[in-house]
Order: sequence, then structure tokens, then C-alpha cells
Amino acid sequence: VKEKSAIFIIFGGSGDLAHRKLYPSLFRLYKSGFLKDHFAVIGTARRPWSDDYFRETVITSLKDYFDDDEDVMKEFAKHFYYQSHDVNDSEHYIALKNLAAKLDDQFDCGHNRVYYMAIAPRFFGTVAEHINSEGLKTSGYNRLVIEKPFGRDLDSACELNGNISKAFPEDDIYRIDHYLGKEMVQDIPHIRANNPTFEKAMNNKYVSNIQVTLAESLGVEDRGGYYETAGVLRDMVQNHIMQIIGAVASDEPDATDAKVIHQHKCDLFGSLKELTPEQVDKSFVRGQYDTDKLGEKKSYREEDKVASDSEIETFTAGKIEFESKRWSGVPFYVRSGKRLPDKQSRVDIVFNDKVADLGIRANTVVTLLIEQIDGQSILINGINYKDSGQDFIKFPEEAEFNHAREAYESLIIDILSGNRVHFTLWDELRSTWKYIDTIRERWDSQTPEFPNYISGTMGPDAAEMLLERDGNTWIWD
Ligand code: NAD
Repeated sequence: VKEKSAIFIIFGGSGDLAHRKLYPSLFRLYKSGFLKDHFAVIGTARRPWSDDYFRETVITSLKDYFDDDEDVMKEFAKHFYYQSHDVNDSEHYIALKNLAAKLDDQFDCGHNRVYYMAIAPRFFGTVAEHINSEGLKTSGYNRLVIEKPFGRDLDSACELNGNISKAFPEDDIYRIDHYLGKEMVQDIPHIRANNPTFEKAMNNKYVSNIQVTLAESLGVEDRGGYYETAGVLRDMVQNHIMQIIGAVASDEPDATDAKVIHQHKCDLFGSLKELTPEQVDKSFVRGQYDTDKLGEKKSYREEDKVASDSEIETFTAGKIEFESKRWSGVPFYVRSGKRLPDKQSRVDIVFNDKVADLGIRANTVVTLLIEQIDGQSILINGINYKDSGQDFIKFPEEAEFNHAREAYESLIIDILSGNRVHFTLWDELRSTWKYIDTIRERWDSQTPEFPNYISGTMGPDAAEMLLERDGNTWIWD
């Protein structure tokens, strides 16, 4: 393992994302030697905290995830510093710049900076502009990391992108879609590239349909306020589901060059078959959860910080199509929702009977489980795959393996290595937002009959009918 050197400036260093995801991931990288002596983390937030207090909060959250010796955590925490910061105050950026320069000397960090936006999205643009205008950038690398959501429709995404692009060149912008950090999603192109027969079958001659399901068993919990501004279409389909489709369906899965990989993904999303408003009614279903069968759980409208007449959808199922040589005519059925029977993230690739010509059993279904609660992924069916840097192994039927690396850990390694393969480019977001906006606009012009599904079931009946009309059925049912 080659040690990396950088100063992380985490905007929103006292927040939930920082404590639940970023600090534990940085700690794992510390334990595995990616981070060692030459790094420092500056946490910023509004509150006036001391370095010592900040370090305590970091150690406290690490204890939720690790049972290491506290001494190791304390050594790690010595690299953490705190700077109170208001996003609109220029003076505070100067203070941040001076602290970063001092720590760079102290820890010899090679003038590298990672600016991580773990704050509310409305601040992303302001902070990026100030980093630039107050001269925080150094002679090393200066990488800007942006969390989701990247806008709430095409217009707001364009505006946000305009603001950050004024301050950072595209090559230095790392837009996070944490599904791209999941090992199974990263493995999909490898699985395709290393199974020539499978890859040969991945087109409209042999594929009947492809199904992507991101199901959660929980409701909105304490995130009602955020969810009321989002809904599952924005929260899951525009980003995560589209990016999973990108891994499953892009051309040239054996490409290793980031530019080529992104180009193929852009081409794929550029070939999304646009919907007319009337087609939205036929191709997309929405739902909102009611209480469960026993009447014990809260319906969505009864949740905290949710309007009692909310029209926000907690479930959607839809049929996405592409106008490309490879995929035209193949429905991509997508589905995501809260309060479904189980937590599951999966891709089911359903082949037709012609696939027998290639020596694959007719009507085979290849299922890729992206994650399960315990972090294990199972790959059903006899194809080759790559597991965390090991050689390709042929599994006869059902393969199970432990994907031990956290999505954020792997994404941070990529950021430190300057590898943008697992981040989203603006062109991809533009195409996917444009597609999603048509659905959103249609929905916003109609009043849904909510709630329309019981908690703990597979969503509204219309989601089943969507496939039945085409003579298909959901594989996970
Ligand atoms: P949070 O509310 O827990 O934390 C927000 C942070 O921003 C706090 O540290 C707060 O002090 C700081 N802050 C607020 N106003 C500020 C101001 N005016 N000046 C300076 N600092 C200010 O939020 P979070 O859940 O950690 O989310 C942070 C970002 O990450 C958001 O963009 C969110 O959409 C994204 N995100 C979060 C999660 C998650 O699991 N929490 C998952 C995906 C994406």
C-alpha cells in the first residue's frame, strides 16, 4: 500500500455524513496504510469548537464502528483540526487557508487539497466560489468533492454546475454517487468483460428485459423534512438507478481509460428514449406508503415533518427504454421504494430463448445482488467475476463473497489517486435530469390517490401490471 498525502477540508465536519461515513472510512484507510503520517483533516462548521473537542467527537463516532484500542484512535485523531466557519464569511476562508498551509508544513502533505462538501446542497456553489476567490488553491492538486443531491431538476443542476465550474475545472470535480463506490457495481463491467459468452448475449437479440430494484424496508425515519423536497424519483432513480444501468448497459465494459468509460456512459444516457407526458402515465407508476397490515406503523403522511396531505412518492416503478443499436426494444424495468418487505439492491438480467444458440440455458436469469444488510453480495449463476483485486475465478453456480470495503472508503481512495471513473460527469447528469423532469412535471400536474400501498408489501398493484402488460413479471417478487 502506497501512502497518500493530502489535507482534507471537510465543510460540514460536525454533521451526520461526516461522522457516520467519512471519519470511519478515513480511519479504515489509516489502518490499512493509505493514510499514515502525511495527512490532516480540517473539520469546519459554524459552532465554535476546540480541536480537542472535535477529536473527541470523532473518536466517539469511531467507537460505534470499531473496537480497536483507543490509543490507535487517538493517534489518528491527532491529525484532526477544527476551524469554525460560516460559508458566507470571506475572513473565515482566509483563516482556513492559513491553517491548511500550517498543517501542510507540519505533516508534509505535498500541497494537496481535498475540499469535501458535507454541507447542505444550497451551500455547494458558495463554498466552491470562495475557495477560488479567497485563494485557497495550492500548487498541488485541488479536488472538489460534491455530495448528492446534485440539483433537484435540470435547471437547478445546471445552475449548481455553472457555479462550481466557475471555480473548478471539470477534471477536479468529483461528484459522488455512492452506489458507484459499491464493489458489486464496480464489478459489473469486470463480470461482463471477463465472461465473453455473457457479454455476447448482452444486447437486444438475447435479452428479454433487465430489472433494477433498490428496495428499502424502512420508512423515512427522521428524514421527513428532506424527503418532502425529494421523493424517490429524485432521490434514487435519477442518480443511483441510472448509474447502475450505466454499469450494466454501457458499451466496451473492458475499457480502462476513464474518458472512454465516461464517453460510453454519456452515449448510453444520451440514447434514453424520451417520454411524452401521456407515455409517462403508461410507463411510470408512483406510490406512497400507508400503515402496515396491523395498523401499527405510521403512514408516510403521519411521519414527522411530513405534510398531512403530502403528494410526495415513496415508491416508483417504471419502464425505461433506449434508442441504441444494442438496446432498442429491451425494457429496463426499474423500481425503488420505502417500506417494502426487505432491503434489497439487485439487478436481474432476463434472457430470452434465443440465448440457447450461445450455449446459455434458454430464459436464464442472471441476478446480481448489489448489497444485502450484512454487506455480503451473492452472484447467482455460473459466470466469472473479480473479487477485490483477486484473479478471475469461475464459479459453477452460485457465488457468494464478502465485499468488505465500504463504498466511501473506496471512493476516497479514488479521490486521492485522481481516478474519476467512479464519479459522475455533468453530461450524464444532464441527460438523466432531462429524462426525470418529464416524469416529475407530468406527476406535478396531476393529483395522486395517496396513500396507495400497505407498508410491508411490494408497492401498488400497478407496479405488477406494468410488466404484465408486456408479458413479463418481476423476478424479485
Ligand atoms: P447535517 O445537517 O448533519 O450537517 C450539516 C453540516 O453543515 C453541519 O456540520 C453544520 O454545522 C454545517 N453547516 C450548516 N450551515 C452552515 C453554514 N451556514 N456555514 C457553515 N457550516 C454550516 O447534514 P448531513 O446529513 O451530514 O448532510 C451533508 C451533505 O451530505 C448534504 O448535502 C446531504 O445531502 C449529503 N448526504 C448526506 C447523507 C447522509 O447519510 N447523511 C447521504 C448522502 C448525501
